[in-house]
Amino acid sequence: MAVCYSHSRLSTFEQCPFKFKLRYIDKVVPEIENFIEAFLGSVVHNTLEWLYLQVKENKVPELDDVVLHYASEWHENYTPDIQVVKFGMTPKDYYNKGIKFLIDYYMKHKPFEDGTLEVEKRIVVELEDYKIQGYIDRLVFNSEKDEYEIHDYKTAKNLPSQEHVEKDRQLALYSIAIKGAFGKDVKLVWHYLAHNKKITSRRTDEQLEELKKEIIELIKKIESTTEFPVKKSVLCGWCGYKNMCSKMNCKCC
Ligand code: SF4
Repeated sequence: MAVCYSHSRLSTFEQCPFKFKLRYIDKVVPEIENFIEAFLGSVVHNTLEWLYLQVKENKVPELDDVVLHYASEWHENYTPDIQVVKFGMTPKDYYNKGIKFLIDYYMKHKPFEDGTLEVEKRIVVELEDYKIQGYIDRLVFNSEKDEYEIHDYKTAKNLPSQEHVEKDRQLALYSIAIKGAFGKDVKLVWHYLAHNKKITSRRTDEQLEELKKEIIELIKKIESTTEFPVKKSVLCGWCGYKNMCSKMNCKCC
């Protein structure tokens, strides 16, 4: 059966082939399954998903309800094994960050009438014999501009440059599916919640064709790879396989 790819699967191979092998080929359960940044991200995403589902039913929640939803989602799902990597930070610090993200987002976007069509929309892009699936945080149709918008929430601390987002693969990949389905222009929108800032970008048809070629090449490379070396990076601190890694004692790990 053909493998179904995802942005995360492709990125893991680029980040560290050894980690890719453990996760996707050997299917080894990582020693550390969850880090606090990922947990915070999922609780914030779930809360925004809930908010927009309420709005779709013509019930704009009060800010207090949004914060209460976040708090109950956090407390129901938090477990003590979720790892905090950054020195001097506690789970409570991350919990409070999430509340601030949501308050800022709420105040900026209320009453949330921007033409939201769907949340957590699954898309599948077919490239030659390969399928790549993903989930769009929120799909919007802007009727004034007659175009679709792919919205993505980021809870990371760092704000990327415009140059960086112009090269972002994930949302550009999703835009191939939306453009193919609806035949209209697509705007890419990232919400950097820690900065209460929105960054946008677009891709031309030529850029999307180039991207398709790059992805096919990458998948072919993955499928023909027989050696999976370790590759250190600043992301090693958030790797759940550190206990199995020969570079475990390196400075960046
Ligand atoms: S700790 Fe770093 S080098 Fe080792 S497997 Fe994980 S990502 Fe790869």
